[in-house]
Amino acid sequence: MNIILLGPPGAGKGTQAKRLEESRGMVQLSTGDMLREEVQSGSALGKEAKAVMDAGKLVSDDLVIGIIASRIEQPDCGYGFILDGFPRTVAQAEALDEMLKKKGMTLDAVIEMKVDDAALTERITGRFTCAACGQGYHDTFHKPVQAGVCDKCGGTEFKRRADDNAETVTSRLEAYHAQTAPILPYYAARGMLKSVDGMAEMGEVTRQIEAVLG
Ligand code: AMP
Repeated sequence: MNIILLGPPGAGKGTQAKRLEESRGMVQLSTGDMLREEVQSGSALGKEAKAVMDAGKLVSDDLVIGIIASRIEQPDCGYGFILDGFPRTVAQAEALDEMLKKKGMTLDAVIEMKVDDAALTERITGRFTCAACGQGYHDTFHKPVQAGVCDKCGGTEFKRRADDNAETVTSRLEAYHAQTAPILPYYAARGMLKSVDGMAEMGEVTRQIEAVLG
């Protein structure tokens, strides 16, 4: 099964994608994670993307479409994939349709995670992850049981995303409403769009997503 998790930054797409990886053996394809890896590695592509990401704007369609087109050809995607953060524009959604058709693949569901803007800034600016295993935490909502020690792997180093600050969040939300939200009617018109309550408690959101997937 191949699905898209759609929603603004901070909606919980990454968290839910990781849960689906564990429960269903699907693979999470996060263009944000892929771009951050490129930035980290210092590649030409990473250098091109960094300034745009730091400003909270969207990198070019061609760049992310190219990344996804080659990623979905990898054998692990044969077990099903969860697109997280892609598509983010109507042009990307059209390119996705085209590439799936060419490769004989299907898109089974598009799930919108609905969250009020007011909640997003607090969610995003407080989040951090374990540097060793990637487990997610939050300053207010989800602290490690023992301060400074990862619950999952015992790691003691944590990191925050460069773009998870109040100024950049405003631009990212603007980009979401101006460029990404128009994808919702694109999929609704095709009868593919389902919505879940992203404001609900994490486990409840998972239950709603599982109910959509059946
Ligand atoms: P995310 O981790 O999904 O919040 O993405 C972090 C940043 O990477 C975004 O603010 C964009 O600058 C860039 N990015 C990620 N995915 C896309 C995409 N599909 N199209 C354009 N830019 C993207």
